[in-house]
Amino acid sequence: MNLKDYIRSIPNYPKKGILFRDITTLIKDEKAFAETINQIVKKSKKFKVDKIAAIESRGFVFASAVSYLLKKPFIMLRKKNKLPAETFSVDFELEYGTATIEVHKDSIEQNDSVLIIDDLIATGGTAEAAAKLVEMSGGNVSAFIFAINLFDLNGSDNLAKKGYHVENLMD
Ligand code: IMP
Repeated sequence: MNLKDYIRSIPNYPKKGILFRDITTLIKDEKAFAETINQIVKKSKKFKVDKIAAIESRGFVFASAVSYLLKKPFIMLRKKNKLPAETFSVDFELEYGTATIEVHKDSIEQNDSVLIIDDLIATGGTAEAAAKLVEMSGGNVSAFIFAINLFDLNGSDNLAKKGYHVENLMD
């Protein structure tokens, strides 16, 4: 099964000039969704994983299933003002705009090895912000796994250059 066949590309969304890669067409096919989760689980076996963290909201779709299969705790990295208790917070630049992500201060313990999962990496700004949240919390990023790597934006390569382990299912 070629997972790429299940990704729909939508021109000029959410802004003119952007080609949006849409995963709704992948997750609405139960076999493609299961294959995606299985591939992420397989790639995760190379790393020490105490906890799994994912970025709102498409990251949650994949990461919660992976967390269930690996029997590891699931941590939500959420957009600003969504988490009710005390948070760490990081501001960052997006491919289209700026954003803030947050994590509860008690989600990650000192020296936890945290696997970060998201649907897609573009510039890598979101992923770096996620790494900062994990590190501010006292944890280490054991690896990143993305379903889709928009390789011409170099986010994945830049994370690797900074010493992070990065795995992508599709380029
Ligand atoms: P980055 O911070 O530039 O790497 O952008 C990655 C973040 O933006 C991820 O959380 C993605 O979910 C989202 N994103 C950016 N471009 C796309 C796209 O084409 N399709 C789906 N999500 C995207």
